[in-house]
Amino acid sequence: MREDNCIFCKIANGDIPSKVLYEDEEFKVILDLGPATKGHALILPKNHYHNLYDLPDETAGKVMLLAKKMTVHMTEKLKCDGFNLVQNNGEAAGQTVFHFHLHLIPRYAEDGQTLGWKPLELSQEELEEIKSIIIG
Ligand code: 5GP
Ligand code: ZN
Repeated sequence: MREDNCIFCKIANGDIPSKVLYEDEEFKVILDLGPATKGHALILPKNHYHNLYDLPDETAGKVMLLAKKMTVHMTEKLKCDGFNLVQNNGEAAGQTVFHFHLHLIPRYAEDGQTLGWKPLELSQEELEEIKSIIIG
């Protein structure tokens, strides 16, 4: 299940070379070409899914299990101080490559990166309204 002109389909299936950290039947884990930190990697399913909205439940479960294994292994090898898992869905959320991928980002005490957001100041009423939209 590939999509023409998808760079991650080509990488995940070996048509374009990459620095591969792990591979099995369903996934490839590669180093990101524009890393946030030393060791920044991407989990790619070999099948094409645009993003999380598209991902089968079973694959989603396997992705998280693989992420956990990679995080533990890479933390041990890289001796990093922490780890971010980042996963962007849609242009508004910063997705630039429309083939599902999960970022594995090792963090170092002095790495100078900021992955964050500016917290909104919402009232209890506003929070309650959002809650009722989501669960209603
Ligand atoms: P997104 O913004 O879609 O969540 O992340 C896309 C990521 O893919 C970026 O971190 C970018 O550096 C990485 N990337 C884009 N093209 C390539 C490529 O050809 N090879 C590799 N290894 N990473 C890529
Ligand atoms: Zn693809």
